[in-house]
Amino acid sequence: MQIHPRLVAIYQQVLHKPVKNISIALGELISLDESNLRAQWHELVKNTPLEKKSLTIRIIPAEQQCMVCFLKYHPKQKETACPQCKSVGAKIISGEEFYLEEK
Ligand SMILES: [Zn+2]
Repeated sequence: MQIHPRLVAIYQQVLHKPVKNISIALGELISLDESNLRAQWHELVKNTPLEKKSLTIRIIPAEQQCMVCFLKYHPKQKETACPQCKSVGAKIISGEEFYLEEK
């Protein structure tokens, strides 16, 4: 199984930390959905002290802003064209997150 490099980095980050559970923020635009992420995580933590810790995933919705009319919108199919003026080249405001949430 191919494991996302960012997930490996998170794993290394928590490996030596006394955390009770692991919480990951995952942007909607990351090419990984929740079940894929869980499968990859299980693969990574197999036979490690992290195996018994629970994993929480918080999905962060995608938001883009049109650079022509400044409309902010949620890209439904990861499209980039503005629903209002149809221009392309929107700025991504959120949805590319992929990090460990520290409490
Ligand atoms: Zn627009």
